[in-house]
Amino acid sequence: MIPVAEAIQIVTAQTRPLEPERIFLADALGRFLAEDIVADSDLPPFDRAQMDGYAVRAADVASTPARLRIVGESAAGSGWHHEMKAREAVRIMTGAPVPVGADAVQQVELTRETDGAEFVEILESVASGWSIVRRAAEIKAGETVLRKGEDINAAMIATLASFGYAEIKVGRKPRVAIMATGSELVDVDQKPGRDQIRDSNNYTIAAYAALAGATVERLPLAVDDTEELKRQIADAAAQSDVLITSGGVSMGVYDFTKAALKELGAEIYFERVALRPGKPTVFARLGNTLVFGLPGNPVSVAVTFNLFARTALRAMQGAKRPELIAETAVLTRDLKGSIERESYLPAILRTDETGTLLAEPLKWGGSSDFVAFARATALINVPAGVRSIEAGEQVKVVRLPG
Ligand code: AMP
Ligand code: MG
Repeated sequence: MIPVAEAIQIVTAQTRPLEPERIFLADALGRFLAEDIVADSDLPPFDRAQMDGYAVRAADVASTPARLRIVGESAAGSGWHHEMKAREAVRIMTGAPVPVGADAVQQVELTRETDGAEFVEILESVASGWSIVRRAAEIKAGETVLRKGEDINAAMIATLASFGYAEIKVGRKPRVAIMATGSELVDVDQKPGRDQIRDSNNYTIAAYAALAGATVERLPLAVDDTEELKRQIADAAAQSDVLITSGGVSMGVYDFTKAALKELGAEIYFERVALRPGKPTVFARLGNTLVFGLPGNPVSVAVTFNLFARTALRAMQGAKRPELIAETAVLTRDLKGSIERESYLPAILRTDETGTLLAEPLKWGGSSDFVAFARATALINVPAGVRSIEAGEQVKVVRLPG
């Protein structure tokens, strides 16, 4: 049995980024940058008015009201490109370039046009620089604004668009094949017969894999038969970057997944992790394909996928931080740990009225209790060797994707 941290390290060490690809900006959401994003222009690209009003010289309006001659208009997209002289003003709109010679903008509410709009009275004085964003005040051309390995969220889209990234280099999406094993399984559209249950793991893994950025293929259900498993695993591995199976990895007489992998010549990196739930998790390589053999119980699947397979899928896309990030929360109810294994127990996160993050452990019936798990938003991490943690103590939590 190896510790969880060591298992994650092994996963990371065995995972290589896939060849990057170029995609359109419109398809970029959720992808991982495979290049630094560099500003191709200053921001703003010119001295920009922040208000609708009049471009003036601050010195001209030091005593008010000040009467200035209106000599032109600067609108967004159509500036007034002459030199503005003393005692002159230019009508200006938000986002428009400030003319040479002006050093401030007074907002329109504090002005009054007179003499058939030939003159404007500035009713309050302004300091030099007022309501102007100077060229390059935000970003200078050549500056790196986003970095390789960051995942692209909606807030970044404006930056990518504004610096002309019509196409972006991103990590390729890993192709993931998903294969539930178990002779008791029928597909969701079937009524389970005697001794049968519906497969849920294929759908759970597909959902989490999609959240991790993979393209997913669900394979037909596999029965507990080593020869059959060997054939299906070999086929699946040949067409995918990652194969994720569920079931058949514990110590039962019909648990054949590991045997099938070994007989196919897979290199097994680990097969038992000091983790609760999820001890019998297998990580292997078959040819160029990474294989995760997850346990069969649905909650174990969710936990082990997110600790290990998610980390690999994100690392393959070049993620800077592929693994789940721990946060600290205050426990709301006593919790039992395990002596030998590190626990990742389902919980609901919320904040109290003082803003403290609280972790409420779910009441659940163990790793088969997927109905209780349906409410989980996070996992509470209890280190191995900690017998119990009391309400009010701090715990480490990781948020569940979803
Ligand atoms: P196993 O690891 O194959 O012994 O499976 C452990 C438990 O998980 C058993 O109760 C299985 O019936 C259940 N199980 C295995 N695979 C699935 C699946 N794909 N969907 C739902 N439950 C499963
Ligand atoms: Mg089974």
